[in-house]
Amino acid sequence: MTEGLQDGKAGVAVHLRTSTGQSRYLLVARREPCARCTSGTRTISIWATARGRGEAIEWCSHCFDATCQPIRLEDEHRERHQAVRSAVAEGKVSGPWHAVRPALEDLERRGLL
Ligand SMILES: [Zn+2]
Repeated sequence: MTEGLQDGKAGVAVHLRTSTGQSRYLLVARREPCARCTSGTRTISIWATARGRGEAIEWCSHCFDATCQPIRLEDEHRERHQAVRSAVAEGKVSGPWHAVRPALEDLERRGLL
């Protein structure tokens, strides 16, 4: 399992702001083959709110199976959360984005996903 943003690319911070004004910080983004269809690639992302509540958002490029569910953050996620929030405070950030997909498509364009 590769976790691209944590693998020597910790300088990349991605900030999302929802339509209700809540912030989400990207902790993990990666791609893997979809288990529900044979030809799709799943994009898997883990986000945290400012208060450290975790959310896993995934979707498949082929069968469009998509899920969004709350998750409990692990220690490595919490460390990443601190690092991302520090980077955001210093202005080293991509965003704020208003939706998950364009934020991750931007990472892909920059070769980070
Ligand atoms: Zn699929």
